[in-house]
Amino acid sequence: LSLSRPAAPVVAVDFGHNHVRVALARGSNVLSEVSREIDVDHLPAGAMDLAVTETRALLADAEIDLRDVAVVAAGVPAPIDNQSNVVAAVNVLPAWIGFNPHDQLADRLGRPTIIRNDAEMGALGELHFGAAVGERDFLYVKASHGIGASLVLDGRVYRGSRGAAGELGHLQLAGMTDLCRCGKRGCVEAILGAGQIAQRLTYVLRDDGGPVGGDAEMIKLAARTPAGARVLADAGRSLGRLLAEVCMVLDPEAIIIGGSLGAAGTPLLEGAREAISRYTGDASASEVSVRAAALGDRSELMGAIVVASIASADLVPG
Ligand SMILES: [Zn+2]
Repeated sequence: LSLSRPAAPVVAVDFGHNHVRVALARGSNVLSEVSREIDVDHLPAGAMDLAVTETRALLADAEIDLRDVAVVAAGVPAPIDNQSNVVAAVNVLPAWIGFNPHDQLADRLGRPTIIRNDAEMGALGELHFGAAVGERDFLYVKASHGIGASLVLDGRVYRGSRGAAGELGHLQLAGMTDLCRCGKRGCVEAILGAGQIAQRLTYVLRDDGGPVGGDAEMIKLAARTPAGARVLADAGRSLGRLLAEVCMVLDPEAIIIGGSLGAAGTPLLEGAREAISRYTGDASASEVSVRAAALGDRSELMGAIVVASIASADLVPG
């Protein structure tokens, strides 16, 4: 293996529910990145086109030829079938029925392409560069408009038999009946999704001049007000009650909260810790460390860089 040769360029893409982020990197060294807003849930092909346009623009600026890109790795906000690369659980994303993000991106760019669930990318970003460095057993929860999780067990990502492991967002919260976008009632996502939290914050903060900015920015600011902190602590307790059950099944060392809710900081984390401690009782699971993602809204993008770089090293034995 030639160590003197610089790492080949790789492209990382993070498709969120309403954004596309693209980064150009060599190894773990980020050369440039860009973020654009688009309704990814309803416009999968448009989101792919945007990712390709932004990729070509970053490459042109860096004077790198597309043909020199070793690997393109992208995270998408839905479970990906282990075998077919097609989006699973399409009752949540009807516009993605039959959509194959791998083939779509590979056809447009003509480069080796890897597609993973976005929570898995977030977990790998935090594992290599963030709040999960050194952990072998942890749960990364991506809590934004959608809520999903990635399980890292004994040092490896656990995807389940079909690739749908970690779909926390559609478990039912005790006693809740709110209708969810998946068609069921009382789902975690229908109560604790960033949109629902933002609505509650807008309501309690209306006398303080109202909230500002995007969801993450608003949640961060709201956490500093008594009323906002209370909403976020309640959300943390609801999430924690659910996480307590996960802890009793899997006994993780740590739980990393990412996505827009990760920006809530102390009130949400304290609420989650309190509920985990209460509902796990004397179990050792109550000792789990609950912390916020360290990479903020870049966990998923950095994870995609990790996946692309590891794959490119495998492709080029030197
Ligand atoms: Zn649901």
